[in-house]
Amino acid sequence: TCKAEGVAAAVRAAAAVVAEHRAELVDLDRAIGDGDHGENMNRGFAAVVAALDAAPPETPGAVLKLVATTLISKVGGAAGPLYGTAFLRASAKLGNADDLDVPALLEALRAALEGVQARGKAVGGDATMVDALIPALSAAEQAAGDGGDVAAVLTAAADAADRGAESTMDLVPRKGRASYLGERAVGHMDPGARSSALLLRAFAEAAR
Ligand code: ADP
Ligand code: MG
Ligand code: MG
Repeated sequence: TCKAEGVAAAVRAAAAVVAEHRAELVDLDRAIGDGDHGENMNRGFAAVVAALDAAPPETPGAVLKLVATTLISKVGGAAGPLYGTAFLRASAKLGNADDLDVPALLEALRAALEGVQARGKAVGGDATMVDALIPALSAAEQAAGDGGDVAAVLTAAADAADRGAESTMDLVPRKGRASYLGERAVGHMDPGARSSALLLRAFAEAAR
């Protein structure tokens, strides 16, 4: 299980990973989009860290809500509102609970995916972040069913998200800017799928 401080630490770890991978995400987006995904994510998560410093939230749900509102206000483009919605839906599921356990984590992950899909209308196979998040949720459910703790569940999710992000290389994008390229985007990994996998990996490592 995980308290507010643990969730905030995981979010800070995610911000550090986004900063480390800023150029990689820019390059992925330059190939099939407009090249700003790394900057968008880095600007957003830097603002999240500043917001956590300014006013540390008291519950896991409040941490995720701060992430959501900050990303929505600081990140333009497609990914900001999509990640913002994901974190907002996850935070709503957690409510005021002061501890994040495995059942709550699964509910939060489910709500996050539903939020992304409600907002962006992408389904599996469209070559978006959804192709990382769908397998991540399935793997998380499986790991939880096998009795895994929060770290094990997040690690399973991150492993599956890595494979899901890889799988976008073989897909013809049907949502977002990459869809304008059609077949020409095949062979390129979707930047948002990559950033989703990076976020889940950071959360998993922080939970260990
Ligand atoms: P923009 O495309 O506006 O420049 P970003 O570069 O920050 O925004 O984010 C691009 C990523 O957003 C894509 O790689 C993809 O994963 C994700 N994305 C775009 N549109 C959708 C959508 N409709 N549903 C899900 N994800 C999407
Ligand atoms: Mg872009
Ligand atoms: Mg853009």
